Amino acid sequence: MKADLERVKIFADAWKPEQVLSWAFANYGENVALATGMGIEGMVLTDMAWRINPDLKVFTGDTEFLFPETYDLMDRVEEKYGIKIERLYSELTPEDQARRYGPRLWTRDPDRCCNIRKVVPLRRKLANLDAWITAIRRSQTSERAGIRKIDWDPKFDLIKMCPLADWSRQMVWNYALKHNVPYNSLHDRNYPSIGCTHCTRAVQLGEDARAGRWSGFPKTECGLHTAEPVEPLVQLSAAGDD
Ligand code: SF4
Repeated sequence: MKADLERVKIFADAWKPEQVLSWAFANYGENVALATGMGIEGMVLTDMAWRINPDLKVFTGDTEFLFPETYDLMDRVEEKYGIKIERLYSELTPEDQARRYGPRLWTRDPDRCCNIRKVVPLRRKLANLDAWITAIRRSQTSERAGIRKIDWDPKFDLIKMCPLADWSRQMVWNYALKHNVPYNSLHDRNYPSIGCTHCTRAVQLGEDARAGRWSGFPKTECGLHTAEPVEPLVQLSAAGDD
């Protein structure tokens, strides 16, 4: 497959998102799923994918620190499309995490907190798939500037697809409004990018769309789409916690 992939990934960069999605479902069937953080890009991609394959599998990382508006959106998406969004949880409850690493870890070591609550659960999920689809775009962050629409994901060892890689934010919103795609009401209140309550604020006029994420830290990514290795969790039992 890797030899074919070298050819496909070159052709695929000229494909429309729907072509990438069709290729994904034709080639990976039950073994591909769409990951979304419930942002507008993920909602647009869910809508597109559902029109091609109404039985698509969708999952999201539930850090247990999400906004009520995000949980409300999950309910609305499930109802509109008749799908069940699988929620990935950390092995550590927020209370376990506070006991193990101290209170408010996100204020001291957000990389570790994201690793525990997002990256490790994602790795567990991806271990059971052959391919995953994400809604990231090249213009979102400098780390995403080089993404391909179809590529090998060396971090998680499976095919990764980014059908919206070359879309602009405006194109995403044009699609969303044209197709009446459900979206997080926080987007209408100056939250262009939404993560956990502890690490997301509204942006001011003229700020970058992701300026409200991990404000005060140099961090711009949660670690799902970067090259850093996944840090293993310290087992609670081995550490003597109850
Ligand atoms: S976004 Fe913040 S609260 Fe959420 S997992 Fe990352 S560091 Fe923790």
